[in-house]
Amino acid sequence: MFKQKRILITGAAGFLGSHLCDRFIKEDFYVIGMDNLITGDLRNIEHLLKLENFEFYHHDVTNFVHTPGKLDYILHFASPASPIDYLKIPIQTLKVGSLGTHNLLGLAKEKKARILVASTSEVYGDPNINPQPEEYWGNVNPVGPRGVYDEAKRFQEAMTMAYHTFHKVETRIVRIFNTYGPRMRLNDGRVLPAFIGQAIRGEDLTVFGDGLQTRSFCYVDDLVEGIYRLLFSDYVQPMNIGNPDEITIKEFGEEIIKLTGTKQKMIFKPLPTDDPKQRRPDIAKARKILGWEPKISRAEGLKITYEYFKSLPKAIIEKIEHKDFTKYHR
Ligand code: UDP
Repeated sequence: MFKQKRILITGAAGFLGSHLCDRFIKEDFYVIGMDNLITGDLRNIEHLLKLENFEFYHHDVTNFVHTPGKLDYILHFASPASPIDYLKIPIQTLKVGSLGTHNLLGLAKEKKARILVASTSEVYGDPNINPQPEEYWGNVNPVGPRGVYDEAKRFQEAMTMAYHTFHKVETRIVRIFNTYGPRMRLNDGRVLPAFIGQAIRGEDLTVFGDGLQTRSFCYVDDLVEGIYRLLFSDYVQPMNIGNPDEITIKEFGEEIIKLTGTKQKMIFKPLPTDDPKQRRPDIAKARKILGWEPKISRAEGLKITYEYFKSLPKAIIEKIEHKDFTKYHR
């Protein structure tokens, strides 16, 4: 029967999930996508729905998860993933990282499947060392607005490790740093879609705080390659995957202004609570163990992403639900 390798990808209709579906389809896997579509969008996987080796379940993984037949791999990528989402849907964010992960670990155990869970640089909180190596335990405020995501992901890592040591499930943990590319949601409030959307609509770019906080942006294809290699490695400790090319948000705004040719300027808004001051992955482990490092420069990646956003229907570009996300700050 099932000769083809079968993989379940949760969060399949999301930004990262949909790119992972594409990659595993390309590698000739049978891909089972799952998503509750709270933050995902079917348009991201519409091109896959007609394929014979793709099927989709509209399901919330915080409820019991079952898929018929054998399963070789699971990628757990279901989760809201932007600070605005955590503020809008905090309980779902907590549940998918904790209860959802528990359900998928149970499924992995039952099916004897290898599971890779999507963790995040947010486990480092507002880090007081830079760059962040995997050994750093972080500086997280559990009861702040980002705590619902950060703590769910920290619990996810603990639960995953426990299933590995206690139940001998084959597990992998990737800590994902800021990633960008086509299929990001234009209205998710993250800095890149926010700036590009504002530039396209002819609005000023909203920089939060003084703009001297840093981030390091990884193009999605590089991230997918890193995840692919991690899944097939035998490394079970958490691994950072991200681009170490660090930049301040103000410099990033200048790059977007140049790229888009907008005549608008940057305006400064209050910094959200617990917004990390610096973030940059230490990728020594990924280099050594996976032979991986990012290949796509920010200039290249931003150009592709800008073209994508420009190609969206005008109605989507104009009809941004909440143009001023600062009303969500606390
Ligand atoms: N940011 C900004 N303007 C915006 C959206 C975000 O200056 O319109 C800042 C935000 O305060 C943070 C950085 O850009 O310092 C990255 O924010 P994002 O929400 O993309 O992700 P984070 O890395 O904070 O999870």
